[in-house]
Amino acid sequence: MHDDGALVEKRIDRFVRERLRPAVHRASVPLRVDAWSVTDAPVPFSEAVRQSYTAFGTGRAWGRPWGTTWFHVTGTVPAEWAGEAGTRVELVVDLGFSRATPGFQAEGLVWTPDGIILKAVEPRNRSVPLRARPGGQVDLYIEAAANPDVTSGFTFVATDQGDPATAGTDQIYRLKRVDLALRDEAVWQLSQDFWTLTGLMRELPVGLARRAEIRRALESCIDAMDPDDVAGTAGLGRAALAAVLARPANASAHRLHAVGHVHIDSAWLWPVRETVRKVARTFSNVLSLMEENPDFAFAASSAQQYAWLKEHYPELFARVKAQVAAGRFVPVGGMWVESDTNMPGGEALARQFVTGKRFFIEEFGVEPLEVWLPDSFGYSAALPQIMVAAGSRWFLTQKTSWNETNLMPHHTFRWEGIDGTQIFTHFPPVDTYNAQLSGEEPARAERQYAEKGAANTSLVPFGWGDGGGGPTEEMIAAARRTASLGGSPTVELSTPRRFFEAAEAEYPEPPVWSGELYLEFHRGTYTSQARTKRGNCRSEHLLREAELWACAASVSSGAEYPYDALEQAWQTVLLQQFHDILPGSSIAWVHQEAERNYAAVADALTTLIEVSARQMCGAGDGAVTLNAGPFPSEAYQGWGVARRPRRMPSAPRRHPAPRCAARPPASCSTTASWPSRSTLTGSSPPLVDLAAARELMPRGARGNLLQLHRDTPTQWDAWDIDEHYKRNTVDLSAAESVEVFADAPEQVGVRVTRTFGSSRLVERITLAAGSPAIDLHLEIDWHEKQKLLKLAFPLDLHADRAASEIQFGHVFRATHTNTSWDAARFETVAHRWVHVGEPGYGVAVANDSTYGHDIGRSTGPDGRTRTTVRLSLLRAEVFPDPAADQGRHELRVSLRVGAGIPEAVAEGYRLNRPLRTVDGVSAARVEHLIEVDNPAVVVEAVKLAEDRSGDLIVRLYEAHGSRARARVIRHFEATDVTETDLLERPLAAGAATLSADGPALALELRPFQLVTLRFARP
Ligand SMILES: [Zn+2]
Repeated sequence: MHDDGALVEKRIDRFVRERLRPAVHRASVPLRVDAWSVTDAPVPFSEAVRQSYTAFGTGRAWGRPWGTTWFHVTGTVPAEWAGEAGTRVELVVDLGFSRATPGFQAEGLVWTPDGIILKAVEPRNRSVPLRARPGGQVDLYIEAAANPDVTSGFTFVATDQGDPATAGTDQIYRLKRVDLALRDEAVWQLSQDFWTLTGLMRELPVGLARRAEIRRALESCIDAMDPDDVAGTAGLGRAALAAVLARPANASAHRLHAVGHVHIDSAWLWPVRETVRKVARTFSNVLSLMEENPDFAFAASSAQQYAWLKEHYPELFARVKAQVAAGRFVPVGGMWVESDTNMPGGEALARQFVTGKRFFIEEFGVEPLEVWLPDSFGYSAALPQIMVAAGSRWFLTQKTSWNETNLMPHHTFRWEGIDGTQIFTHFPPVDTYNAQLSGEEPARAERQYAEKGAANTSLVPFGWGDGGGGPTEEMIAAARRTASLGGSPTVELSTPRRFFEAAEAEYPEPPVWSGELYLEFHRGTYTSQARTKRGNCRSEHLLREAELWACAASVSSGAEYPYDALEQAWQTVLLQQFHDILPGSSIAWVHQEAERNYAAVADALTTLIEVSARQMCGAGDGAVTLNAGPFPSEAYQGWGVARRPRRMPSAPRRHPAPRCAARPPASCSTTASWPSRSTLTGSSPPLVDLAAARELMPRGARGNLLQLHRDTPTQWDAWDIDEHYKRNTVDLSAAESVEVFADAPEQVGVRVTRTFGSSRLVERITLAAGSPAIDLHLEIDWHEKQKLLKLAFPLDLHADRAASEIQFGHVFRATHTNTSWDAARFETVAHRWVHVGEPGYGVAVANDSTYGHDIGRSTGPDGRTRTTVRLSLLRAEVFPDPAADQGRHELRVSLRVGAGIPEAVAEGYRLNRPLRTVDGVSAARVEHLIEVDNPAVVVEAVKLAEDRSGDLIVRLYEAHGSRARARVIRHFEATDVTETDLLERPLAAGAATLSADGPALALELRPFQLVTLRFARP
């Protein structure tokens, strides 16, 4: 037989394009359109409906960028449609849609005159089924959002449209169509047959008989139909396809659980306020689909998005709530938002679950057990413990399939975290969280599935996502056709829970992946939008302070605990940890708003702290210095959370006590000349640990070296740092001025000013007598473009691996590039500190603002191994925010010599939770609230219980990576203590060994163990 396969497939495409699709509507009539444009921010329906509308026809331009136009559409359903059998009346709208996918351009929401939302109109989902009968009236409102497409087809071209101040006022859309239309059901069904079968055909191997069989069937269908009377011959066409559609799936076919889903980015190429409307649009689409498809269930994450719906769209929220109760609308994830997991601190990541699950439980009586993070940029090795501690059982993502270098070997596995906790995890092999579910994607999922032979079930999340939209009736129609279809995996409309239960039962002993799920991609997100990063970091630490002192005030003086104010601050911080805000990958608008919100959070929390201090200490003319850190400070011996020096652990320490270091000025003859002008402008400065008699700076190397790199990513500018950045480096060693200063008798330093490009940097280098740390304070006025600024510390150390702080612990990563996995980690994330060392000696580098690092090893000209720690300070990418990071920045960095992991942990807290002095009080000190007698056990949070019972919650963790015994001593009245999960519910069998003896509680923790204690108060 001659092979005409390629030609036949082309013929099929053309038939669909030119004959089938245009015949879906038998007839249509235009509606009358009147319009009213909102001048500023969106308004509620009740306000829009009261405005006066002016006549507006199709073909006219509408919508300045980010503007809203309300269209009032009216008309009559033609009486002659009464006799048309097998049809459906629908509203068809084209707001001027482009070829871009839904969610990245104009979108509309259709309302009835009494304020009920029907459904959204979006590209690729333009129709709204109507109940109006022939001869009946149609009267509807369309709230049309003129969201600009800032993507330019994701060519990463700089755009001004991401900021309303620069987006211009030209109207960017042209209304194309507002019609009543009569849909031919048989033609529509035939279209779905074609879509499913052509998708499957294309994904099947060329040589497979089934592929040819489908092709021939489609060809016969076209032959049987009259191209000039598609509607009249659709029945013939469907009959020609009946046999090929009836062919059942193979007995060993892969089993797919298709879960209706939407991934709505809480902000990204649109501001938060637009996401509120995106949620309403998508959820209304879903409710409309549920009416027609009783077996269709839908999963959506992010308590924040449901909370927006509750606040802004109560009627829609009530309908969602009813479907949640029916088990069809399934809240998943349990987090407040789909947050980044690289950068949020331990307590913040815990609160994502605490706050999210609390919302779902209180509003719906439902606790999501599956953690749902399809799109975050890599997954912290602390997550398994946090997820399990929050009561979750399963984890889903697929983002690591985006790795540039290495393919993850598993699709279903147990993921093990730093403390040994494991969680059942699934990566959908379909490799998208926005599946359209034609025949093509299920077949691809089967082909890629890595567990073949051992297991045979996977999940496919379907629905337009990122910018919203969700599932469509076409996707459900495809699922029905692939329920059992030869050549395709079987597709079952399902829920995440049904999938996970089936997958776990089928595969009880899956392989284990230990440690972080590092994304070999998007490595710039640890650094981009530095002010957003700093805002998050500072807010997290302020929240700890505010909660601690509010607790102390409540316990000591009966002051009212500011539940609402703290909750509001937390919700803002948690929202901004969303995986395009904190990572710095949003438009300018989002980051400007984030910075304003962080400033407001800082104001509110600072006020709370001061109020608490006055409640604890009484009003007066004095001042009190507060230490909210978990370790005592030499400068101040009273603290809220403290340890008793006399109860320091008896176990031998790996390193001697902190030592005099780095040429302390007060005790060394080099005081006046340290560091000399020459050391700062060129030659190698000395860095000597006097106590260890150890020169730390490699010969010929410069420490504290600022390096400017070309930073022009191949794609995804704000997201990516590509390895080629390293090939273009300028050392910023020249100084404009160097001034020596003395702040205090025992604290001196130098102030160095450097200018480069269009930027200026002032660095204060301070060294206190006896301190093992050099403190750097940097103020940078940054006006570069597409440059990466790094700060390097080459060290004469032979470190095989580097430790980086993550949530409730740290991870080790290789300093070499032996394997492709090590090599791909050329830029990594760390929280407050990183540590490099040899057995018995090490150095910690801490900072208070940024997260990006690279730590590598090389051999110097003298043949000695040197380990170089570099921090990524600033970037200046041009997409999606063309002015990203321009302007002023401030951060602190410290280098601590002679540090083991315990000293690194302490250094991180010292830099991030400095002492605070509050004026206007009478007492000069506050009493301890909680003491812990082992520095390995760190109190991370002290708060009152979420249920507002007044119980006191203490969250602590083992920070050194070793087994630890500790006594926790309380200085407040308590009637009982229990170990709980993160949601403060008692654990049936506490993970920690716990025994109480009066106010002292003995704990035994495994490495990195996280423990939540709940103290009942009288
Ligand atoms: Zn996303």
